Amino acid sequence: VVPASVVPAPHLRTDGFEVTLVRRDFPILAEKVNGKNLIWLDNAATTHKPQSVIDRISYFYAHENSNVHRGAHTLAARSTDAYEGARKKVAQFLNASSPQEIVFVRGTTEGINLVAHSWGRYHLQKDDEIVITWLEHHANMVPWQILCRETGANLRVVPVDETGQVRLDEYARILSPKAKLVALTHVSNALGTVTPVAEMAFMAHRHGAKVLVDGAQAVPHLKVDVQALDCDFYVFSGHKVFGPTGIGALYAKPEILDAMHPYQSGGNMIADVTLERSLYQPAPQRFEAGTGNIADAVGLGAALDYVMAIGMETIDRYEHRLLAYGMEMLRTINGLRLIGTAKEKASVLSFVIDGFTTEEIGQALSQEGIAVRAGHHCAQPILRRFGLESTVRPSLALYNTIDEIDAMVAVLKKLTLSQR
Ligand code: PLP
Repeated sequence: VVPASVVPAPHLRTDGFEVTLVRRDFPILAEKVNGKNLIWLDNAATTHKPQSVIDRISYFYAHENSNVHRGAHTLAARSTDAYEGARKKVAQFLNASSPQEIVFVRGTTEGINLVAHSWGRYHLQKDDEIVITWLEHHANMVPWQILCRETGANLRVVPVDETGQVRLDEYARILSPKAKLVALTHVSNALGTVTPVAEMAFMAHRHGAKVLVDGAQAVPHLKVDVQALDCDFYVFSGHKVFGPTGIGALYAKPEILDAMHPYQSGGNMIADVTLERSLYQPAPQRFEAGTGNIADAVGLGAALDYVMAIGMETIDRYEHRLLAYGMEMLRTINGLRLIGTAKEKASVLSFVIDGFTTEEIGQALSQEGIAVRAGHHCAQPILRRFGLESTVRPSLALYNTIDEIDAMVAVLKKLTLSQR
């Protein structure tokens, strides 16, 4: 039995959202940086881990450590139960209809590459089309460029409007029976735009295209329901949702997953091997060759327990208030231009300020203990769409506060006033 110390604290089981209580669950938030209290506004890059996740991983190594699916001994049973239990939690978190629809991968990047290799190579031909949007992270762009080169398919890119929202009129124009796959982000990491995934999936399916959703930036902020979205693939990374690095998940509809070819091959993914041929396990084991990241899968399960205990709708509501406040306060700074102002938006406040490089702004904030990302955020095309190579990108999560936004805005005001 896993002790109470490695499951979410009871206060999170209620509906009320108390950010001060939530913050106590994240030990790193008590760190000092440059003599100041750490203010972590780099959540789009990675998120911090609650004590329950740290404890759960430690408990695994102290009490359950073994390889899974092998060896008929007690620890093998414990680790297999913990690992498969985590798969169930992922399925529940995404509202997949079965844990068998969930493949553990290293993260979003590996999930997308898996689909490109194991589905894309077998379903795309010359002159077929893969449709992406201008918002995509390089992880949801480069694998499709490579696949297009390999198969002779063409990449089509759906533009965005001035607010950074996908242009559905252009999307409708681009879609045709040639489209075999639509690969789009659920939430843009550079602008925070929440895309209309369900509508876009519906439109894609009318043309017979499959739909892959990059959920890396959605999972810490929104309730995801893969059945309601009706997407064919959904991928995310554990480290963006308060879980460990090196673990993530790919969801795929069972009829698609069952028909897919292995990604990597070797132990764990086979049913029977002779010197001449191999028979593979059914999904999802067929896609999990070799010894996986067992402890971190278990840690991811604990992270999902944590957010599900609070409730994704509760998190979404709280963060929306923070985001609206952040936008309003940033707009009071002279010379500041917000990039990404779509009505449907989550977490990200991307901006530039006249007369300052993004590195200068990032440095000024860092000196005060405030961590933000300044750069291209692995999404160069969308920044170039707005005439930029780089932005400053504070990004919010459930443990951020109004006071932290005020602290950031105060540094920016001081910086801009010092120049004028
Ligand atoms: N897609 C989006 C939208 C992202 O924000 C990121 C990471 O920043 C990725 C994909 C890649 O995630 P990972 O590096 O965890 O594979």
